[in-house]
Amino acid sequence: MKKKTGIDTIRNIGIIAHIDAGKTTVTERILYYTGISHKIGEVHDGEAVMDWMTDEQARGITITSAVTTCQWKNKDIQLIDTPGHVDFTIEVERSLRVLDGAVGVFCAVGGVEPQSETVWRQADKYQVPKIAFINKLDRIGADFFGAVNMMIEKLHAAPLIIQIPAGLENKFNAVIDLIKMQQITWDTDTLGASFTKGEIVPEYQEQAMEYREQLIENVAEIDDEIMEAYLSETEISDTALERAIRKATIDLKLVPVLCGSALKNKGIQPLLDAIIAFLPSPGDVPAIQGCDPDGNQIECPTHINSPLAALIFKVAIMEGRKLSFARIYSGSLQAGAEVFNPARGKKEKISRLLKMHANKRTRIDAAGPGSIVGIVGLKESATGETLCSLSQPLLLEEIEFYEPVISVAIEPKTHADQEKIDQVLAKLTIEDPTLRFHEDQDTGNLILSGMGELHLEVIVSRMQHEFNTNVNVGKPQVVHRETIKQSAEADGIFDREVSGQQHFGQVRLHLSPLARGSGFQFESAIKDDLISEFHIAAVEKGIRDSMQSGFLMGYPVVDVKAVLLDGTYKESQGSELAFKVCAAMAFQSALKQASPVLLAPIMKVEVYVPDAFMGDVIGDLNSRGGKIESINAQTGLQVISAAAPLAKMFGYSTILRSATQGRGSFTMQFSKFDQV
Ligand code: GDP
Ligand code: MG
Repeated sequence: MKKKTGIDTIRNIGIIAHIDAGKTTVTERILYYTGISHKIGEVHDGEAVMDWMTDEQARGITITSAVTTCQWKNKDIQLIDTPGHVDFTIEVERSLRVLDGAVGVFCAVGGVEPQSETVWRQADKYQVPKIAFINKLDRIGADFFGAVNMMIEKLHAAPLIIQIPAGLENKFNAVIDLIKMQQITWDTDTLGASFTKGEIVPEYQEQAMEYREQLIENVAEIDDEIMEAYLSETEISDTALERAIRKATIDLKLVPVLCGSALKNKGIQPLLDAIIAFLPSPGDVPAIQGCDPDGNQIECPTHINSPLAALIFKVAIMEGRKLSFARIYSGSLQAGAEVFNPARGKKEKISRLLKMHANKRTRIDAAGPGSIVGIVGLKESATGETLCSLSQPLLLEEIEFYEPVISVAIEPKTHADQEKIDQVLAKLTIEDPTLRFHEDQDTGNLILSGMGELHLEVIVSRMQHEFNTNVNVGKPQVVHRETIKQSAEADGIFDREVSGQQHFGQVRLHLSPLARGSGFQFESAIKDDLISEFHIAAVEKGIRDSMQSGFLMGYPVVDVKAVLLDGTYKESQGSELAFKVCAAMAFQSALKQASPVLLAPIMKVEVYVPDAFMGDVIGDLNSRGGKIESINAQTGLQVISAAAPLAKMFGYSTILRSATQGRGSFTMQFSKFDQV
């Protein structure tokens, strides 16, 4: 059978969920029923195909988004498994950027848990159409309608129930399809691979009618055709209903809700059908915007004959080679072709083009718009950068990165470890733009910085398992920034012979504090062309370099405005070097006089506690320097929102657990650097 290659046959989707909701289990079932894997790997056996990194298997969590392609009813589903832990939100954001639709997986017992809220909001931010799958209906305490209500209360979503369960807990064995009004019952002997569609059992007929009516009313409210049919009481066909639901989902007006039990192999095939039926193809979402070299905005249509526009969303090192993952928006990529990376002004060669399955891949010759591919051969290109054609350069919007807020000192255990460590860390930082390392100037220690305690733990453990490099790890420390509290002025002068040539430069700088979060501003107040544009540019560069290391503890300096007041040079001695160095000297000396202070990372914390523990939890947060911003009641729970310094929040999960008899939970995200 010839495979169709039209854009409308592609679905780029991600599965987003709270940790433990069953994302990996759902994915495994999808791979099984679509024929990619021949047996079902279970998470608790450490065998799941998608969780292929050793570390993920040991922890039973999903860390790196692995992309995989599978086929369902002649359509290509490109699936990205996204991580659920808050330390890895960057991975989630990167995936959401290149996806067209998402499946939110919720646990029928826990419902919408804090982490899924974070991820759901990220998906909202990128305007990703979604469907929801309420999983674990076989568990004791499963409450399908309760979970749907939580979607309304917590996510402010507009769920559209298109299936209801027939039975719950150990009696759950079928779902009722409210569009086709039939019951789907799975055959347990075939691991759920076969199922029968039949009449709804009498026990559930009335409930099914009631929810079918509600479904039609909900759709009618936003779809004229359905409204007309509804008002005139004419029969509404399945296809008309599906068309309307598809449109409403893509327009972000409704979230179709399905249900099942991934572990018990029930509900996955209709989920695949719903992905095809309701989530958009690359052609159904608005064309992405780019910029031409003159900065004019241009549209990148989902068309194979348009100029190439592809975004690299992940770089990994696999078997010692650099493998880049890219989403193609416009045009096509060919194996062997040369492409252009405008961010670096560099030509790059596509040595191999790959179609990805979790940890395996097949070579392909070309790929068109909507495809997600693996590329071997890119030397310099990094995550977030654009690939375009040499003749028609364009730039897509870059992916936003978070700043690392936590660091640990590491020390190689043996001489052999010492030898490898720089290389290993270089590889890891290529893969993960939120990971940084540098050498502490005073102690000579290697300092690793990242997004959170778990992030760095995982990195250290990957060094061990993947690269056989062992290190001793110090206590986690927060990363700081430095800024100034008042204005100051200083001179810098550089007059020296370097490699047989005389260099001379002299400047006077004025520094003043800026509002939190403003970063850096530079201005020249030079009059009468005392020095040239060339010199002024060198001064700015010199300051920017120098800002990387502050006066107090060597942390980057932020929220400072520098004004260049004065400058002189000597003919043929006013080199770039001279002006960079004298500017850095002036900057450092002004910094010292401007009352430098440390800024610490402040986190946005949301704590979910049963009413009874609220007082204790608030008291504890206050003692950690947390500022309570709001308290909202949510069915039996209080949600405490606070801003708290990260340094006081280490190990908070353990503290909260013991203070609430295990019933409290929290999320924490970097908010800003500020004075504590
Ligand atoms: P993830 O963290 O979202 O990827 O969740 P996993 O797929 O790793 O699942 C977390 C745990 O829940 C594992 O022990 C699974 O076996 C279990 N689990 C997943 N789906 C179901 C289900 O439908 N019913 C029950 N009872 N357990 C499930
Ligand atoms: Mg997982």
